[in-house]
Amino acid sequence: MKTFSALCLVLALSVPAMLFGDEPGKYILPEPQKVEFIAEASGKATPAGTPRTLRFVEDKCCGDEGYRLEITAEDIVISHATEAGKFYAFMSLHQLRRHYGEALPALRIEDAPALRWRGLHLDVSRHFFSVGEIKKLIATMAFYKLNRLHFHLTDGPGWRIEIKKYPRLTQVGAWRVDKTDQAWNWRATEIPLGEESRKLYGGFYTQEEIRELVRFAEERHVTIVPEIEMPGHSFAAMMAYPELACSGNNVPVDGLRGKDMVCVGKAATTQFFIDVLSEVADLFPHSPIHVGGDEVWHQCWLDCPDCRARMKRENLKDSEALQTAFMRDIIAFLKKQKREIVAWDEIFEGGLSDAQVATMVWRAPELGYRAAEQGPVVLCPGEWLYFDMYQGKPGSEPLAIGGFIPLEKVYTFNPFPPNLSEKARKNILGIQANLWTEYMTTMEHVEYMLFPRAFALIDIAWHGKPRDFNRLHEQIRLQLPTLKALKCNFRPLDGKE
Ligand SMILES: [Zn+2]
Repeated sequence: MKTFSALCLVLALSVPAMLFGDEPGKYILPEPQKVEFIAEASGKATPAGTPRTLRFVEDKCCGDEGYRLEITAEDIVISHATEAGKFYAFMSLHQLRRHYGEALPALRIEDAPALRWRGLHLDVSRHFFSVGEIKKLIATMAFYKLNRLHFHLTDGPGWRIEIKKYPRLTQVGAWRVDKTDQAWNWRATEIPLGEESRKLYGGFYTQEEIRELVRFAEERHVTIVPEIEMPGHSFAAMMAYPELACSGNNVPVDGLRGKDMVCVGKAATTQFFIDVLSEVADLFPHSPIHVGGDEVWHQCWLDCPDCRARMKRENLKDSEALQTAFMRDIIAFLKKQKREIVAWDEIFEGGLSDAQVATMVWRAPELGYRAAEQGPVVLCPGEWLYFDMYQGKPGSEPLAIGGFIPLEKVYTFNPFPPNLSEKARKNILGIQANLWTEYMTTMEHVEYMLFPRAFALIDIAWHGKPRDFNRLHEQIRLQLPTLKALKCNFRPLDGKE
């Protein structure tokens, strides 16, 4: 009898929300880890308009980024260890208010993310987006508790960040002949060197604008991770500074793959990237720095006297080893600055991933699980998390780069498969979705490709695994009016209005 009374008391104090038929957790996306009604109010909503006091308690209850949110008829108490935790409590409260108004149910939420890297990548090289558009994206990310914006600032088709020491990077490299009316063909990228009467496409962020974006993001607990691509994807940089090319003044005439990598045989090239990264490190004082390293074809190096001389001098057995030697110098510089470093998964094959260099895995996740035995890993495998792929039938969708990754497919990605070692598990920092913008010329289109798929990413990143798809689907349906209120475009759920 005594045991039964104690059990009743426990049930009365902490009753799972589902017993009451309503589930406040479903109005919050990502859904909190734990939602309970508080017994004293028996799950009844407090009368509309009841004023409550708001109190904050510093408490290590829920770890970094976690929070506890307690709502009673009298007050709202937010317990948190960090400012990020407090911010996320507010975001959850805001989402509850969107549904309940002030007639909030009395409840207790305990919540914390499973993954600390909950990211989104945006390519601003292929198409450029304004400071205002980037701010809006950051605000939307923060609202849904994403916390890393991987900012792909440089690539073959355009250099988008002002570097004081090398002004031509943006004077020349940020502008190209406008071919927006044609299907994307990046081989046709044309960056004019002389007087050019044709209409130019492009743009760049001044250093002041970058600082403004960093401030804006930090206020919302989003870290912007800048990426400076090297040694491939460097056509725009080479057009601005032809001496970066193997052929010296004879720069390639187009951004053709295999011709878009800088000369890594010349010490001046390494110095150029170190100078650029010094300015980037100042502009992003608290960010990991991404140094690219993907998709490099080596034929120019094999034909180049400077590259061949370096291989001989340093006893490098092939062009792969030459690339590794170049990246090692760049990484050593950033390590000296005590910066976290990120690079695409090719770095792992070059033997460069370690405890200080995070491998960003865009190819098979198995590569990531191997890399995670050595150092930190961020997973963004193309098979699940490339949001530039089609999300519906190609004929009925805006032109995209190919593939087929509908919402359901995104939600099958499990970052932690069984049989993963404990070490690898700890080294998986998180996941992100990538938005390469070959075919996305406007932010409206970016948002269309992003939502609703981003909700699957958000839920997996928060919980560390996909859960019930039908439930997510219902949550997304409930979330669409909020997206509309945020003036954020999205693909209609299931392709229907
Ligand atoms: Zn060379």
